[in-house]
Amino acid sequence: MSTENAFPNPKTQLDFHCLSDGCEGVVGFDLINIADPEFQAVCPVCHRAYALDDELRNKLTRMMKLISAIRECEDILGDSVVSVNVAGGEVRVPYALLLTRLNTLISLEISGRKIDFHLWVEPSNPQIFR
Ligand SMILES: [Zn+2]
Repeated sequence: MSTENAFPNPKTQLDFHCLSDGCEGVVGFDLINIADPEFQAVCPVCHRAYALDDELRNKLTRMMKLISAIRECEDILGDSVVSVNVAGGEVRVPYALLLTRLNTLISLEISGRKIDFHLWVEPSNPQIFR
């Protein structure tokens, strides 16, 4: 019996705007890296390093688990839609599309400041999203 994980962690990229005054840099990192307590995200412009504290690492780890769980259910979610009522009717957005194609924004408070993280999840199978 194979022990290989049939649902490996999807490649999940997070990015946020650098907090340095006047810096236009976007700090990006792969969610998989946060398992390392020594991990630091570095701004490509001003080279400011961001260490993730335990609380943030905990939140992001849970976020990664959630994404993995969603990935496991992708075949089910592929048939599910979110129904949004709009003026004049209803818009049906497939879950799979919501979770992978649209940019997800997570707001987390870090050192008393609200930071918006963009979350990018690589679709496991682009065919699903045609
Ligand atoms: Zn910067």
